[in-house]
Amino acid sequence: MSDSTFLDWPFFDERHRTFARDLRRYAAAEAPLWERLIAHETVPVASATLARRFGQTGWLAHVVPAAFGGVHETLDVRTLCLAREILAYHDGLADFAFAMQGLGSGPISLFGSDALKAAYLPRVARGEAIAAFALSEPNAGSDVTAMTTTARRGADGGWRLDGEKTWISNGGIADFYTVFARYPEGGERAFAALVVTADAPGFAHQFPHGARRIARRFDVRGHSKDILTRLASSGSPERRKLNTAQDLRKLIGLCRRLCADRPAYSE
Ligand SMILES: Cc1cc2nc3c(=O)[nH]c(=O)nc-3n(C[C@H](O)[C@H](O)[C@H](O)COP(=O)(O)OP(=O)(O)OC[C@H]3O[C@@H](n4cnc5c(N)ncnc54)[C@H](O)[C@@H]3O)c2cc1C
Repeated sequence: MSDSTFLDWPFFDERHRTFARDLRRYAAAEAPLWERLIAHETVPVASATLARRFGQTGWLAHVVPAAFGGVHETLDVRTLCLAREILAYHDGLADFAFAMQGLGSGPISLFGSDALKAAYLPRVARGEAIAAFALSEPNAGSDVTAMTTTARRGADGGWRLDGEKTWISNGGIADFYTVFARYPEGGERAFAALVVTADAPGFAHQFPHGARRIARRFDVRGHSKDILTRLASSGSPERRKLNTAQDLRKLIGLCRRLCADRPAYSE
């Protein structure tokens, strides 16, 4: 693999270096298997298989806190960045399967009650529950304040989500979705995040662009009793930090791969 002297930078300690070395070895050994899997299966099946494998081999323990089946007391963003870079270098879908487990469950790790954490995070870490993160809507992407999905408390004490999300990675294969919505009860600028299981009444998903697309569209018109948290703004600094840093390292992984492959193409 290409230059890794950056691991000597003061941002990283011995744990990071050991992690990077071990994951590189693992990824290099597994990459041919991933290639075969991706060649023979649909993207959703390959993606779910990769997530389960990362759970069985312990790597997903890095995406949840230690008290709920993880390795680090709190999420260690540097470790996640390294993981994304290394996996993306070998295979984009492997990186995606790993990252989505962290992204879909990240709001639970950061803001969920202990009961909610206990219900989902250990299964995420073992690769037994596939996670999804549902923020984007047909008319709300970068501008999350344009979101129109609403979360309202029902008379029965449950929650009613009403709206449509789009571009949801793992849509259709996820066991649960962390869904962001406006929360009118809390005021004009209040947002909520709810955990919606794939079998929640009223939940539906569609596959508008064919079975091999990763990004999916789904409607949420149902109840959820699992309110995760009420946020003053859906773009919490913690989430933005995690998300941005992960994306950045993935890009570096892909760029490193391009650089490493270049001599082969120029020959
Ligand atoms: C493969 C894939 C997977 C995805 N998975 C998920 C997922 O799992 N969950 C989820 O919630 N979403 C997901 N998304 C959606 C993704 O997060 C959105 O596409 C993203 O938020 C951008 O929103 P948009 O597509 O509506 O573009 P827009 O918000 O319309 O932006 C279009 C362009 O304008 C730029 N722009 C926007 N606002 C400004 C501004 N104020 N100033 C300057 N430039 C600006 C943007 O950078 C972009 O280049 C996925 C998208 C893709 C392509």
